[in-house]
Amino acid sequence: MTDEAALLHSLRGRVANIIRRAPEAQDASRWHPLHLAGRDLRLALPITFTPYASARPCSARCAFCSENLRPTRTLTPAALLRPEPDYFAGLARALRALRGVPLSWSLSGLENSDDSAWLLQLLSVLQAAEQNGIPVQERVLYSNGSGFALVPGPVLLDALQRFGLSWVELSRHHHQGAANQAIMRFRPGQPITRQPCFEQVVQQLAARLPLRLVCLLQQGGIASPDGVADYLAWAAHCGAGTVIFREFSRLDRDYRDNGTARYLASARVPMAPLLRACLDDPRLGPRWQLCSLTEGYYFQNLRVRTPEGLEVVFEWSDYGAMHERHASGEVYKLVYFANGQLCAGWDPGHDVLLDTRIPEGAPHG
Ligand code: SF4
Repeated sequence: MTDEAALLHSLRGRVANIIRRAPEAQDASRWHPLHLAGRDLRLALPITFTPYASARPCSARCAFCSENLRPTRTLTPAALLRPEPDYFAGLARALRALRGVPLSWSLSGLENSDDSAWLLQLLSVLQAAEQNGIPVQERVLYSNGSGFALVPGPVLLDALQRFGLSWVELSRHHHQGAANQAIMRFRPGQPITRQPCFEQVVQQLAARLPLRLVCLLQQGGIASPDGVADYLAWAAHCGAGTVIFREFSRLDRDYRDNGTARYLASARVPMAPLLRACLDDPRLGPRWQLCSLTEGYYFQNLRVRTPEGLEVVFEWSDYGAMHERHASGEVYKLVYFANGQLCAGWDPGHDVLLDTRIPEGAPHG
């Protein structure tokens, strides 16, 4: 048994709740049938829809950024596509085709808040889709916080609150500004780089929305129980309700050997030994309530609660498992790209479910 399998085995006996997100093939209540562009599909529930944000290059340049990984089959990377003037018309068409499908909005890709006009229009198109018959369960924004530190920040915050955002996942990979900047490498002139500015943004967001701070474990960042303890103390001081520690996603052989893939290999902090060390550390694990273990379709996480009320999540994922699911013919993920394609995965040009550049009624190739 691997170290991770042994840890999982022991955790299964200790947590209050085990959540299985991936549906059983025979459980009809967990699949939604959909006829789309001449094909009959089955969508795994719950399912998230991502309007992939790529209106402009990201304000940060994280060395581990998965948007810079290059699967060998990739035609044009999503991160390099920019929306055409008819982008929102195409998005509205894709959403009409999904009417009646229970979805959650997962607002990710590059940095959503870097182009406030784009994000505001996106929110209004998604709201219109909800009014037109898409039952939405959760609305989640993933952000590095940059746009909230700029002049339109308060307008964005108002709009997100009106939108009914369930929570925001805010990335910060070290609790000290200089160490974080060495990891995230915000572009020159981004106020969010400065630690006092980031902490102010955290407080403003946390006052209005549930806030989860996200920290990717890595060498040079948080890599030990000491680092975890320090990060948690800082997060609680800033007003976060949840902290998520993630291991870099594990890659299969479908990726090119580029700088990002090499960084992931060299700076990776494996979750199992770190989590085991945290669980054994008298400042941490023995004080925690072990709440739940989630087994997703390509990720797993352990959710705990500290006596001070902070929720802490340890999460790890495997892109090989994700690719296997996506190749199964069933639909586990919906992504709408800047090129007008609705796809069942993260690669524009592959697993295309609907191409909104093709006129309605015309055959899909
Ligand atoms: S903030 Fe997110 S999208 Fe931007 S470089 Fe970092 S990981 Fe990539």
